[in-house]
This record gives sequence, structure tokens and C-alpha cells, in this order.
Amino acid sequence: MATPTTHKILLDESEMPTRWYNIIPDLPAPPPPPLHPGTLQPVGPEDLAPLFPMDLIEQEVTTERYVDIPEEVQDVYRLWRPSPLFRAHALEKALGTPARIYYKYEGVSPAGSHKPNTAVPQAYYNAKAGVRKLTTETGAGQWGTALAFACAQFGLECEVWQVGASYDQKPYRRIMIETFGGTVHRSPSELTAAGRAIRADRPDHPGSLGIAISEAVEVAAQHDDIRYALGSVLNHVLLHQTVIGEEALLQLAKVGEQADVIVGCTGGGSNFGGLVFPFLREKLAGKMSPEIRAVEPASCPSLTKGTYAYDFGDTAGMTPLMKMHTLGHDFVPDPIHAGGLRYHGMSPLLSHVYELGLMTATAIPQTECFTAAVQFARTEGIVPAPEPTHALAACIREALACKESGEEKVILTALCGHGHLDLAAYDAFLSGRMVDEDADDARFADALSRLPQVPAGA
Ligand SMILES: *Cc1c(COP(=O)(O)O)cnc(C)c1O
Repeated sequence: MATPTTHKILLDESEMPTRWYNIIPDLPAPPPPPLHPGTLQPVGPEDLAPLFPMDLIEQEVTTERYVDIPEEVQDVYRLWRPSPLFRAHALEKALGTPARIYYKYEGVSPAGSHKPNTAVPQAYYNAKAGVRKLTTETGAGQWGTALAFACAQFGLECEVWQVGASYDQKPYRRIMIETFGGTVHRSPSELTAAGRAIRADRPDHPGSLGIAISEAVEVAAQHDDIRYALGSVLNHVLLHQTVIGEEALLQLAKVGEQADVIVGCTGGGSNFGGLVFPFLREKLAGKMSPEIRAVEPASCPSLTKGTYAYDFGDTAGMTPLMKMHTLGHDFVPDPIHAGGLRYHGMSPLLSHVYELGLMTATAIPQTECFTAAVQFARTEGIVPAPEPTHALAACIREALACKESGEEKVILTALCGHGHLDLAAYDAFLSGRMVDEDADDARFADALSRLPQVPAGA
């Protein structure tokens, strides 16, 4: 057990993981393949080549358990990795819980979140393949910031379509992207057919992640020297994020602890998958048995209210069909403050793990999340990004349950980003203007009625 004075558990640079972990070969069954929307056949490498470099396509489908992290990527990782694991003594005390709460803090990265863990290798492999520019979408701006930083490291241009509502309300992320050398467009834009079609229908459209993805994909697909980068959802993204869980395993071992409960927030599933997959490897090998729980916003509950079905990753229907928990590709979630969790789908790999019964999920409305975040800030001294407030709310629920039962559980979570550029959300909460989302099942059913038709067994 940790001595009471240990607040942060650090690793040396030499202890940073040198391999990413791929969970697929350890699962009892492989995840269903993505399908070509025209032929309904599994997509091959050639279908993905207009969008991604071959190294990443190989990582998307690899069945190797480990993938070496290139030296050049490790070199950039070392700017902030290994990241600290904190024991939340002050929060535990405030809650009066016998539980021991640990949080892996990814806010120490250049972008202030876990996103650079995948942005850096994605930029590296694209640069290695001779690509000139990367396009992408961003919601609140975390991913755009991370990719702009990573592109600057490897001499790539970076063009970002930012969801309109965020572009208008959150200028600081745009400025940060521009500071790292990226270009930002408000989405939907006039620059793409997908954007123009939506604006023709509704000129003041607030945008969505699905629309911004359509725009970024369209531009990449039309140019030989431009590729697209996705900040979540895909297998290679979750693969890159496993540095979080590998480090956390080592850090908990250093203080002789084993996690009983691991909770994390899920937007597309990357920080969660990155944290839990290495622990799940140990669990599947019978070496530990943590309960693994995803937390999503009540307004965008793809795991708890969505359907497990083939759907598009974007709104315009340009991406391959992926079997995942989805609310429907044209579902537009309420404009909650956790922009990074406003995605209609869930990582197909994580969806598969969920279907296999290896994890649970819960949805929490945003005022409970911000109540937790403020308590966390006042005790632990870090202002969390709006997304991990969901994980913190779930940690606090668990810690209070331990108080009731007297159980001394070890709770682990990822504090996947800080909220320094999201203070408007805190302002809304503190001044009483934040309301809970309307999580009406009828709204979810509407978008789900437009799922693409895929014959069973396709
Ligand atoms: C993007 C983002 C998320 C959501 O993405 P996941 O792939 O689910 O991790 C969560 N938290 C932060 C801080 C983010 O920037």
C-alpha cells in the first residue's frame, strides 16, 4: 500500500514503454471487419490507401500483440512521458472514503490531453511516407491542437475542420492550433461538397463531428499528397494510446497496488481503451480482476442507448461501414460542454469488447460531472477537461459506495486532459446556467431509424 505521503508515482524516462499493445490477438473472438459501403465486402488495404499511409493501415489490421514504437516517436513522447500517476489523497479525505483513488494524468502533454499519444506517431508515419499535409476534424479543439503540434514536429502541414459551434465559442483552441502552425476552418465550410450541401440546407448549421470528418476526408481523398488523420475510434489510435495503461500498470505495481475498478470517459473510446487494454490483458491472463467501466454523457450514450450495428463513421456516409455501438450517423448530440464526447459512434474494437461482456458502461448527465470536477479541482488542484469530469463523477460514485460498504477498493481512472481552455464551461456551471441534457429515447430512435441496411452475415 502507498504510504500516505506519496502523491505522485513517477517513472524514469528509461521506463517508458517501447511497444504498443494490441489486444486483438488476446480476445476470445476477433472484432467484425469494416465493410466497403458499396460492395459490403471487408475493406482491404487498397480501400484505405487514399486516406492513410501503409504503416498505419497495417497497424489497423495487425494481429501481432506488440508493435515497436519508433525511436523518433519515443523521442517526442519523452517531452512529457512517462506521465504521472497521482494518488488522490485530498479527494479521498473530502469524500471520507476508505477507497484509494489513483488518476493517470495526461494533461501534462503539449496539447493538454492524451491526444498527442496518437497524433505524434500518425504524423511520423505520414511524414515517412512522403505525405505533405494532413487534414482532420476537431470538436472542442483538443485533437486539432494535438495534430498541429505533431505535424510541426515532423514538418507536415495541418488543415483542421472545427465543428462550427466550438469554433464560435472556443477561440483559444483555434489560436493554439494556429500557433502550432495549423490552419483552421469553421465546419460546415464552403471548401467541400459535403460542407456546401449542408450549408445550402441550413446556412447557420452548428456543425457536428460527423460533418467535419466528411469534409476532412473529402479533401484528403482528392489529393495524392494529402492524407487524413483520425483522433479516436480506429484500432491504430487505441493501439497508440496503450502507453497510458502500460505506464499505469508499472506505476501501480511500484506502490504494490492492484486496481479493483477502472473507470474512464468514452467519446470515441481512445483514452479509455488506452488505459484499460493493458489491464484487460492481465485480466484475461488471470493475473488480476479489475472491473472495467466506461462512462459516457447522458446526451450521447452510444454504449448504453445505441445499437450494435454497421454504421458510417461520418455524417455524409463516405467512410467504411464499421460495426459499433452507434446512435446513427446523422445523430446530432446536444451541445454539451464535453465536446470530445459528442460522437455518434464508439470505437468498433471497444464496442466488440463491450459485446464480449468484458466491461460495463454507464451514462452520467453533465451537472453531476461538473459537481465532481469542482470538488476535484478544490481538493487535487487540477481543473479537469469537461470529458474526464464524467470519469471523475463515476469515481466519486464508486468511492461513496465504498464509504457505505466499508470496502477499501482501489479505483483507477485517466484524467485525460486539463480544462484550462474550457473555463467557459466552468463559468456556466458555477453561475447556475448549466442544464442537464434532454436524454429522450425518442430522439435516439429517430436517427437509429436511418442506419444503413446491411444484410445479416455480410
Ligand atoms: C478527445 C477527448 C476525449 C474523447 O475521446 P476518446 O477517444 O474517447 O478518448 C476525451 N477527453 C479529452 C480530454 C479529449 O481531448
